[in-house]
Amino acid sequence: MNASTAGGSGQIVVAGAGYAGLHVALRLTAKLRNHPAVELTLVDRHDYHQVLTELPRVAGGTRAADAVRIPLQDLLAERVRFVQTEITGFDLAGRRLLTGAGPIGWGRLVLALGSRPNDFAIPGLAQRTLSVYSAGDAERVWAAVSKALTAAAAATGVERQRRLATVVVGGGGATGVELAGELAEILPKVASGHGLAPGRPAVQLVEAGPAILAGSSPQLIDKAARILTCAVRSVQRL
Ligand SMILES: Cc1cc2nc3c(=O)[nH]c(=O)nc-3n(C[C@H](O)[C@H](O)[C@H](O)COP(=O)(O)OP(=O)(O)OC[C@H]3O[C@@H](n4cnc5c(N)ncnc54)[C@H](O)[C@@H]3O)c2cc1C
Repeated sequence: MNASTAGGSGQIVVAGAGYAGLHVALRLTAKLRNHPAVELTLVDRHDYHQVLTELPRVAGGTRAADAVRIPLQDLLAERVRFVQTEITGFDLAGRRLLTGAGPIGWGRLVLALGSRPNDFAIPGLAQRTLSVYSAGDAERVWAAVSKALTAAAAATGVERQRRLATVVVGGGGATGVELAGELAEILPKVASGHGLAPGRPAVQLVEAGPAILAGSSPQLIDKAARILTCAVRSVQRL
């Protein structure tokens, strides 16, 4: 759809169709049922909503990336004008979003563009690691793990095979713990499929804090740590 430049007071623009933006758009659709004059516009670079909570499964090869991309046209009512475009800036004085599809004026703006992974300025980390922040990212993680296992199967020597088949997960928060668990469960089976000993792959979870799952109850932390220590090769403190 073409973007509009008019930003009348009856124009609500929601920037971002992630968890927050989509929720707001759906709630406003229901609330504005008796206010047909109010225009509701949703803007995102993708024409799908990503179920980020399922990414560890995609990164662990047990879920297809497309299964966690939900087409927005299946979720939005007709009255929501969806514009698929990259938001490049804001004209605050003119009350306009600047986008690849042209400026989009707002009467009211809901800003829900999400966040970016934090590498905590650790030198080299951003360049040498893969993050898990989108379905595409998660696909790349699984591709890299599969490639590493193929390389391990072609290598000679137990130590070299082990090194190539070791996956290090950085960060023992909910995503890191889930991903480490997924990989620890699936890698022995995948290794067998490659002709590698099932015990050859290893998963290491690295966490700087005193415990994984910071902020969770001590009972949950204890239970998760016990299960992981059996499945994951080691939980290291930096
Ligand atoms: C792997 C993973 C697992 C998670 N698991 C859980 C969980 O189990 N439970 C939980 O409560 N939370 C979980 N979270 C956190 C949760 O996903 C976030 O808190 C939530 O997504 C934040 O919602 P949001 O709408 O602010 O941002 P997002 O959901 O990230 O949405 C931002 C949207 O803005 C769009 N966008 C961004 N920049 C632009 C641009 N320049 N132009 C156009 N569009 C743009 C993006 O395409 C995206 O659709 C997880 C996060 C990750 C990464």
